[in-house]
Amino acid sequence: MEVRVQNLRKEFGRFPALHDVSLDIRSSELIALLGPSGSGKTTLLRLIAGLETPTEGRIFFGEDDASRKSVQQRNIGFVFQHYALFRHMTVLENISFGLRVRSASRRPPRDEIRRRALELLELVQLNGLEKRYPAQLSGGQRQRVALARAMAVEPNVLLLDEPFGALDAQVRKDLRKWLREIHDRTGHTTVFVTHDQEEALELADRVVVLNKGAIEQVGTPDEIYDTPNSPFVYGFIGQSNRIKVRIASGEIWFDDKPLGLSAPHEPEGEAHLYFRPHDIELCDGGAIAGLLAASRRVAGTRHLEIDIGSGHESIEIELPPNKADALDRNRVAFRPTRWKLFRNGS
Ligand code: ATP
Repeated sequence: MEVRVQNLRKEFGRFPALHDVSLDIRSSELIALLGPSGSGKTTLLRLIAGLETPTEGRIFFGEDDASRKSVQQRNIGFVFQHYALFRHMTVLENISFGLRVRSASRRPPRDEIRRRALELLELVQLNGLEKRYPAQLSGGQRQRVALARAMAVEPNVLLLDEPFGALDAQVRKDLRKWLREIHDRTGHTTVFVTHDQEEALELADRVVVLNKGAIEQVGTPDEIYDTPNSPFVYGFIGQSNRIKVRIASGEIWFDDKPLGLSAPHEPEGEAHLYFRPHDIELCDGGAIAGLLAASRRVAGTRHLEIDIGSGHESIEIELPPNKADALDRNRVAFRPTRWKLFRNGS
């Protein structure tokens, strides 16, 4: 089901944890809420769930204004970082819990509940473990049970709050891939909180970047990575470089030399030029130049640190090994091929 968040504001006391957040989540979409600690991810998730009430703004589930509805009325599936499985219930009892506690008029017959729970158990690849108790499962297995339990009630929306946050790196990676597969098979509209950039970019259809209680950018992982629209997004996701430049006569100047990049619509004056390490080309004249200070191998490429002189932060560029090895250490000249200018880039 689609979810629309309109001009949402949430204050705790007088502290605005979220301000003026608007977001349209499409039906069957997998959305990641990404941001540093305290940016408001969990608050937004809890508002969508109905665990918090907004100070201002509204939330729609389809055409329905759900802003004042309870968690139960919203029919939400929730998975938290710390497995909230019932310890005294078996895996199967945990999965079927949401259906078993429904009021008599909405409760499926007992056989049907069992059939559905077993189906979900198979979906999360835990067949054969239905009689185990949570204490007899690994952390990753428990999170799979938690997800199956959340899906059992056919929720309008699945809300996942750092569901793999407490697990070790390899398990996390496996579960990420697995969650994407499950999502593609079941098509639940899913909102996923993470502070892990890689996880968000790998998993989500679209990423919502939050900073200080507001949305900085919403876009596909490619859009977020390739065309960040603020210095914050450049800095928070992936690696980036920043140099101080001057705009004059529709051109970008660095150290009083034109870079060969035109910026006809930019106002004149000082600005910061941002670019990713791999978005560069080596060249001769009209370029940023410096000394090769360090080099390291990253997977199939080389990351090179270039010292571009006093008063400037050093720059990192990324090149294929054959190009990196052919460089003259004393003068590496390059220019960005994809870049953005910001006035108040901090
Ligand atoms: P983290 O990644 O650390 O979980 P987050 O992005 O999920 O962070 P939130 O938990 O949404 O951030 O918190 C946003 C801000 O609101 C924080 O400054 C937090 O201290 C504050 N906050 C959250 N819940 C409450 C509350 N119940 N009472 C007071 N302040 C709160």
